[in-house]
Amino acid sequence: MTISSHFIGGKACESSGGETDDVIDPSNGQSIQQVTLATPDDVDAAVSAAAAAFPEWSRATPGARSDAIAAFARVLDSRAAELAEVESRQAGKPIRLATEFDVPGTVDNAAFFSGAARNLEGKAAGEYSADHTSMIRREAIGVVGSIAPWNYPLQMAAWKVLPAIAAGNTIVLKPAEMTPLTSVMFAQAAHDAGIPAGVVNVITGRGSVAGQHLMAHPDVSMVSFTGSTPVGQKVMQTASGTVKRVHLELGGKAPFVVFDDADLEAAIHGAVAGSLINSGQDCTAATRAYVQRPLYEAFVQGVADLMSQVVLGPTADPATDLGPLISMRQQESVAGYVERARGYGAKIVTGGQIPGGGLAEGSYYEPTVVVDAAQDSEIVQQELFGPVLVVLPFDDDDEGLRLANDTPFGLAASVWTRDVFRSMRASSEIRSGCVWVNDHIPIISEMPHGGYKQSGFGKDMSQYSLDEYTNVKHVMFDRTAAVRKDWHRTIIGSR
Ligand code: NAD
Repeated sequence: MTISSHFIGGKACESSGGETDDVIDPSNGQSIQQVTLATPDDVDAAVSAAAAAFPEWSRATPGARSDAIAAFARVLDSRAAELAEVESRQAGKPIRLATEFDVPGTVDNAAFFSGAARNLEGKAAGEYSADHTSMIRREAIGVVGSIAPWNYPLQMAAWKVLPAIAAGNTIVLKPAEMTPLTSVMFAQAAHDAGIPAGVVNVITGRGSVAGQHLMAHPDVSMVSFTGSTPVGQKVMQTASGTVKRVHLELGGKAPFVVFDDADLEAAIHGAVAGSLINSGQDCTAATRAYVQRPLYEAFVQGVADLMSQVVLGPTADPATDLGPLISMRQQESVAGYVERARGYGAKIVTGGQIPGGGLAEGSYYEPTVVVDAAQDSEIVQQELFGPVLVVLPFDDDDEGLRLANDTPFGLAASVWTRDVFRSMRASSEIRSGCVWVNDHIPIISEMPHGGYKQSGFGKDMSQYSLDEYTNVKHVMFDRTAAVRKDWHRTIIGSR
């Protein structure tokens, strides 16, 4: 079996410690490949490579960076089938999802950031004081240390790496331990596209060792983290040691609010697709449906009927709708949430089981609808990251919006209504980084993605993410050439 290595300074490198781990296919529990586990020395080597590449890359013209990233997009596109296959296997994604969502999304993101590299914005230079000319420089920050989760490994690599390098930074990315393979392929594609050695580095390894060392590294100027809220809190603490810039994309518990004038059929289809995408392991997945009472019963029934028709199966089969969860541990965790919900009086309308037969070797879980859970119960409040939708009724708009806002998270939400005034009110009052109206899930490279509240701060994708990865510098020129400036009088009188 081949070993996947780090990608440092433009080439594959083994770990200095020689330790490896298996990457498991969650649909059957079998090892796909072994992966090198980084030691702190490996992290140091990657940070040194990124620091060495920084002066030249940050001084390259925006046009040169744009051309290199455009070439990167073309190389990724030419490897689409291979990337989709590996992504599907390591993350347990149905091949349809990897082919139609993960890979094209990644290629489009690269194409977008090729253009965005040439569009660094700032205030116009000018005489904001009569005696001075001011101008803004927007500069790269330095070496970015980035940590990614396992649910969308390739897209997360893209979301972290592309805005950082478009703005002239260099980067060391540590993918999640369970899903490192496409991140290494991503770095190799950057290199093959002509992006200079050391600009994009990937180290594979454990969060507690490699991730922690990277976040604390004195030569890393910014940390950009996507993952769970508890680990994000730890990252923030670690980064405070050297006052790094911090960018956090954390957990979610997205509400899905259905008002009584909504198109019921559209809401049912939206809820099923929005809650089952990536087996529910999506930070923006619909997890809490609040349905105004007149539509409540029909919505629950409609969602349960449609969910029971969803096909669970092998990830490589194009007929498969729903793949496994990422691991047996995740399966156990999701099953635990549902079991405990049964215990505190919630009802399972459909699903709620670990499937047997041919799927028993994988970490599958049935699409599940839960009702009669209390608003303050853990299944409503906590991110469980599985194919589970909780449905609760509400009476009036005030109550629906209050319940939608009633969790510590604020990443995404949707509202379903045909009334433009209702949708305007809801989209302004819901405290989350994205509100969809009559849809749930679509994302687009031109628009930002990021949270409110404990879902973090900072934006991925879009021109806004370039702002995250740059420093704004004010340069102020004296226009008077006077030896004694007017303002000196305030400090030293007429001397
Ligand atoms: P996780 O927090 O367990 O791990 C994320 C990454 O952090 C992994 O690479 C891990 O190795 C690393 N890590 C662990 N401990 C660390 C430490 N002490 N220092 C540095 N790094 C450390 O998250 P996960 O289980 O991989 O992913 C699922 C989570 O990611 C969910 O909470 C989900 O909502 C969130 N997520 C958020 C977004 C978003 O855009 N907001 C997108 C995708 C996923």
